[in-house]
Amino acid sequence: MCGIIGNVGNPSSVDFIYNGLQNLEYRGYDSAGIAVLYDDKIHLEKAAGKLVNLKQNISRLPANATLGIGHTRWATHGKATASNAHPHRAEKVALVHNGIIENYQELKNEMLKDGVEFQSETDTEIVVQLLNRSLHKGNSPKEAILDVLSQLHGAYALGIIIRDDPDAIWIAKQGSPLVVGLGEGSNVFASDATVISEAIDWAVYLNDGEIGRISKSSFDLWDLAGKRLPINKKPLDSGNYVTGKNGFPHYMLKEIHEQPQALKRTIRDLIHLNTLSTNQSALGLNELDLDKVQSVNIVACGTALLAGRLGKYFLEPILARSINVELASEFRYRDPYLNENSLTIAISQSGETADTLACVKHAKQRGGQVFSICNVRNSSIARESDSVVYMSAGPEIGVASTKAFTTQVLSIYL
Ligand code: GLU
Repeated sequence: MCGIIGNVGNPSSVDFIYNGLQNLEYRGYDSAGIAVLYDDKIHLEKAAGKLVNLKQNISRLPANATLGIGHTRWATHGKATASNAHPHRAEKVALVHNGIIENYQELKNEMLKDGVEFQSETDTEIVVQLLNRSLHKGNSPKEAILDVLSQLHGAYALGIIIRDDPDAIWIAKQGSPLVVGLGEGSNVFASDATVISEAIDWAVYLNDGEIGRISKSSFDLWDLAGKRLPINKKPLDSGNYVTGKNGFPHYMLKEIHEQPQALKRTIRDLIHLNTLSTNQSALGLNELDLDKVQSVNIVACGTALLAGRLGKYFLEPILARSINVELASEFRYRDPYLNENSLTIAISQSGETADTLACVKHAKQRGGQVFSICNVRNSSIARESDSVVYMSAGPEIGVASTKAFTTQVLSIYL
């Protein structure tokens, strides 16, 4: 997992991206980088280690740039070095990537035979090299992106800048989260809507298999066959949450102290306080046909799995069905018995946990019902599920989950 962000139109693009990366550091923190397009050139700075190491280098980037992309990395392929940090560049193109290109080695071997020189050990660099080659063949940016994506297997959210198209950022999504924010005079994208919420009026959550072009005043979207798609704008849930560390030395401590407010918000959202009865609609129960359910699986990862284990104690006597609680990364790779009488309960703070999302898709393919418990509105798991309850913990940045855990347990209990 890593964080990506970019913007077009902001008069101080570099500062905007650096500030955004600070809020995305929870998604990855082994190295970071920023690239901007200015004066028909791609300018790039990267640094290994925590984001603060990048700070001294960014003064070398053009301060007037109005278009750029940034990345905070959590390495999957290649060490946490500056050369492996994103953005990756090949002459005409630079890009940031969140995800894994599963077939990069085969593609790289072919390019090495053709004499292409690679600068990094990452899976990501294959994408930038392929794009550069496709653009050199005379393809337009859109044609080149569609051509390259058709060769990739794996997961990606990509933010791409192209020298020949200096007024735009191109984006693509398959399996990793990506949201576009539309604002007044500037448009942005990021892995996570909360980090761009202050800059935008509307959010567009991309679906898998979509590519987009973001300029200062427009946003266009296509599918992988190149067919234009309608734009589905949603207002952002600003939530009025306290951002930053708010005087605490780190986010985890801040979030531990936020638990009373987070629990209050969850109760307020899920209970009719005048009658003290549960709010069936906010609990996502109206969309489910529980009479039909014969088997129940709770799937989650990390701390959410612990919430699921506790949830089994509350739910099993009520549902009168035995409940299997399983690590999503195990569940997705075996062949679990699922059919239209199965209920799968997916728990995920971000709503983007890749293994949990894969379980959700699998359960739906088998015709079962899927209920999810998520913190982030409109996240991928929330959108894929038949029904969702939001636990209103507010943004959780600390990597060890605290207030998300307590509100997950409360949501299951309710
Ligand atoms: N697979 C890419 C890499 O190792 C991206 C990792 C990430 O999502 O941070 O560089």
